[in-house]
Amino acid sequence: MDDAAQTFTLDLSHRPASPAVAPLRNLAGLTRAELTAVLVETGAVPADKARMRASQLWRWIHHFGVAGFDRMTDISKEMRTTLAEHFVVARPEIVERQVSRDGTRKWLLRFAPGIEAETVYIPDVGRAGALCVSSQVGCTLNCTFCHTGTQALVRNLTAAEIVAQVQVARDDLEEWPSPREERRLSNIVFMGMGEPLYNLDNVAAAIDIVSDNEGIALSRRRITVSTSGVVPELIPLGDRTQAMLAISLHATNDALRDELVPLNKKYPLDHLMAGIRAYPGLSNARRVTFEYVMLKGINDSPAEARALVKLIQGLPAKVNLIPFNPWPGSPYQCSDWGTIETFAAILNRAGYASPIRTPRGRDILAACGQLKSESEKVRASARRALETETAD
Ligand code: SAH
Ligand code: SF4
Repeated sequence: MDDAAQTFTLDLSHRPASPAVAPLRNLAGLTRAELTAVLVETGAVPADKARMRASQLWRWIHHFGVAGFDRMTDISKEMRTTLAEHFVVARPEIVERQVSRDGTRKWLLRFAPGIEAETVYIPDVGRAGALCVSSQVGCTLNCTFCHTGTQALVRNLTAAEIVAQVQVARDDLEEWPSPREERRLSNIVFMGMGEPLYNLDNVAAAIDIVSDNEGIALSRRRITVSTSGVVPELIPLGDRTQAMLAISLHATNDALRDELVPLNKKYPLDHLMAGIRAYPGLSNARRVTFEYVMLKGINDSPAEARALVKLIQGLPAKVNLIPFNPWPGSPYQCSDWGTIETFAAILNRAGYASPIRTPRGRDILAACGQLKSESEKVRASARRALETETAD
């Protein structure tokens, strides 16, 4: 992505004042309960028919992946017209689509004016292929090795906007109706832009939607949420989502972790490790993943590998070693390959699986920590004004 083009300016001065027209509600990302409720609230469907209609719509939206009412053939034409007067079933705008030499695909999506985020599909990861979704536009945390961390938080993504990332990827992979086996998109990882545990309500609702058996039906065990360590939200995450947990560790002592992951000053390592040990449902079949970015001369010595073994002792865990992915202006270098292998061997000897994550999609800046959109923080009032202007 071109760093020179990162300013987002709103010039509303020449826009004519026009009456505000509320955009039609998009049904594509509502939970079942919300879907049933809006049908009744708007008067589109009588209360005694709402559950049945919601079930029909749910199947069309989340099993067949339709983006409009026309193809909903078991709903009468009259009803479809009524629905279309009140609602839409729509996708966000795809601003850019890039495909890497290695098959990785990246989409830049625009959810609303100035609200853009990236989503990445990585083939041959997980059971078949993993979708790396964003939970926020930008991030409030400033991990020093992360490109997203250089972008201020613009806002949380809604559950609908998180689900839309899965829908767009599935459209592109031509994976509708939702296959029960042999999927190309088999796993979801919350490892895109943002800190998912600062947006848990929307992340949990999105997981409910994509794991629903009458829709996309992804197993919760194939959904992984990665956090930089928001300790008080770990148990709520497990209780509400039953998702797999990944922790961005990156250092084995507080002094270094304070520097790399500044959130560590708030929740230091002993807190974090205690929080992880209490994560609901951890077992040998449901291990926690530790992510450890390999930074040359910073955190990659054999002594640090041994300290890591000591730190995670007794936990059902595996360690993903992530070769550092550079981005324009990044202050670190990736460790040498031999250093990474030595580090991995120490972990392996101690009984921990420690795959070295092959960098994917580096040529399109789609690899871990390279995501960044050009959305900048603009005053909410200016954004609201723009949304109103463009709604008609
Ligand atoms: N905010 C969450 C999830 C998004 S980051 C978190 O921090 O866990 C996803 C993963 O990419 C994290 O493990 C993060 O530490 C790692 N990462 C960030 N920048 C990176 C970079 N430049 N190279 C390699 N991995 C990076
Ligand atoms: Fe935010 Fe995660 Fe990047 Fe840290 S690594 S700045 S928490 S997105």
